[in-house]
Amino acid sequence: MIGAGPYGLAASTHLTERGVEHRTFGTPMGGWFEHMPKGMFLKSTARDSSIGSPHPKMGIGDWCAVAGIDPYDKDGGETPIPVDEFVSYGRWFQQNEVPEVEEEQVRAVTRVGSGFEVELGSGERIGTRTVIVAIGTAPYAYVPPELKTGPASGCDGRISHSADHPDLSVFAGQDVAVLGRGQSALETAVLLHEAGASVHLLVRSPGLIWGGPPPPPPEELTLLEKLKAPPSQLGNGWTHLFITRYTGAYRYLPDRMRLRGVQNILGPFGAWWLKLRFDGIDVRLSTRVSGAEPHGDGVRLDLLGSEGARSQLDVDHVIAATGYRVDVRSLGLLSDELASSVKTIAGSPRLSAGFETSVPGLFFSGLASAATFGPMMRFVCGSEFAGPRAARGVAARLRAA
Ligand SMILES: Cc1cc2nc3c(=O)[nH]c(=O)nc-3n(C[C@H](O)[C@H](O)[C@H](O)COP(=O)(O)OP(=O)(O)OC[C@H]3O[C@@H](n4cnc5c(N)ncnc54)[C@H](O)[C@@H]3O)c2cc1C
Repeated sequence: MIGAGPYGLAASTHLTERGVEHRTFGTPMGGWFEHMPKGMFLKSTARDSSIGSPHPKMGIGDWCAVAGIDPYDKDGGETPIPVDEFVSYGRWFQQNEVPEVEEEQVRAVTRVGSGFEVELGSGERIGTRTVIVAIGTAPYAYVPPELKTGPASGCDGRISHSADHPDLSVFAGQDVAVLGRGQSALETAVLLHEAGASVHLLVRSPGLIWGGPPPPPPEELTLLEKLKAPPSQLGNGWTHLFITRYTGAYRYLPDRMRLRGVQNILGPFGAWWLKLRFDGIDVRLSTRVSGAEPHGDGVRLDLLGSEGARSQLDVDHVIAATGYRVDVRSLGLLSDELASSVKTIAGSPRLSAGFETSVPGLFFSGLASAATFGPMMRFVCGSEFAGPRAARGVAARLRAA
């Protein structure tokens, strides 16, 4: 098991439950404290932020009871979950469910015969018949080419991705441009401003979208309300119900429809509570960055407005909060031979019902499985679906071998 975030931990505890001998590598909850900023809050609620386990009482509410803190959904309300508390929940989950995690990086996976060789950062090489790759989002961080190539390639260290910043307070007193309009871009902008940076938010679309407060709990909805917008784990509505309740069926939709769903359902929007703090930021809508070049100690950005108006913006630093794109071929973790053998859909591995790729014994979980199983795999709560199925897939492969 490569990865000790929610998806790796969920699959690992399900493997143990099935009696499958395995080793788990990664930094427990590393994706959350190495690649997300201090001071961040989760957009998902207590209802949809638990890690999948075969055992009862391992949800985030159970951790609150053990840790002696008020539940985030006390009295039907909703308090946003601070990232450091979510990390504590994840580590508590790991210590109880997957205590054997080895804090090692996996450097390479190569095919050897009908199995694999896994090379660790320590230099140790392990032979195994099955591998699950659950490495999270950060390895798939996407920076648009206009910020990477041409003159922009000379801006080393001055252009980064939002996943590069566990601490935004280092930008206090600086001029920073943030690109994007999703929760990550909006929260990065707010945290930078609160830390004392001057922030320019550059958004291609003509407006920002903000979510509303969470709907009342299902027991408080009338029958008519439930029929109009049935409650689900990720919000109310028939689409939400389909992606959360019939996640296994999502795989049977045509490719184009699946990919569109992954992009558009629960697409980029800011949480209602973040809007209350969204102040003092220079927001430039309908603005596309067409190029970047070094300028003094900072960066000069070329901007293109809605009616073709060109302008320039000089800043100390640029943060691309431009999301994540799975591309198995350019991951660097799998040998070229192995990566090119994996059948893909728009860069993501095509997976079986048991999360197995077209290479027998090689499994992917987490974000990389969203192109197969839908938007649910972009959220922590998807680990409840993925964990048992990936474990079952591995067990089936081992039996067949
Ligand atoms: C800014 C931001 C905010 C988010 N907010 C929410 C939210 O509010 N709610 C929600 O449901 N989802 C949220 N998400 C999505 C969330 O990150 C995923 O749902 C979840 O973390 C995926 O879990 P994971 O186990 O796949 O990955 P991660 O939690 O990222 O864990 C990755 C694991 O892989 C390990 N790893 C990586 N590479 C290697 C390697 N080569 N060798 C060994 N180990 C390796 C890491 O150490 C880590 O243990 C957010 C994502 C981002 C980027």
